[in-house]
Amino acid sequence: MMDELMTPCENCGEMTRYYDIVSYSGADGNSRQVCTRCFNADVARLSGVEHFEDIRFEPVDLKDSAGEAHRFHFRARLHGSIVVLDAFELLDGHPSGYQCQVVGSPEQDLLGLLARLIQRLRRLLSIRHLVTEGTKTEIAEQTVRGRIDWDESAVERIPLLVIDGREISWSDFGRMLSAFEGWQFKLEIIDRSDEI
Ligand SMILES: [Zn+2]
Repeated sequence: MMDELMTPCENCGEMTRYYDIVSYSGADGNSRQVCTRCFNADVARLSGVEHFEDIRFEPVDLKDSAGEAHRFHFRARLHGSIVVLDAFELLDGHPSGYQCQVVGSPEQDLLGLLARLIQRLRRLLSIRHLVTEGTKTEIAEQTVRGRIDWDESAVERIPLLVIDGREISWSDFGRMLSAFEGWQFKLEIIDRSDEI
């Protein structure tokens, strides 16, 4: 089962999960599918980063406010002078659900960055923005935080929202908002790596 979700890195040959594969154009201009580790090693070499310690983090299970467990996977990617550490849940082998990102310096301790990311995940999991009663899901209070994704199933290009780690279609969210008819709202778009 797991093998279907893996592919060999075109550099080192190691069987790698899809989320850990980067499509990468090398100096020769050819695009190759390489693992995060090979990608980071190449970026470190090209950007002159000498002290980047590439750690493979084991998944971590965290509970949300309703006691439900969520398994987070991690990926650290070097982008020149910054390192981006991502946490995500998996659905069919692809990042989904709750996702979170922190940015740091490649020279800093990656474990420290991981600790920051986990703290942020805990805060994210501690709040529920939606309540479901029977088949009806509604906005719990007056603030909603989430992520804007892309709805592959839609004909037009419309967003798919991920709130409380759940995929919420644009039209379902519209229905939830209609409960506040006559009220005002304030929409703020926030960078992936900033805390919401
Ligand atoms: Zn590799």
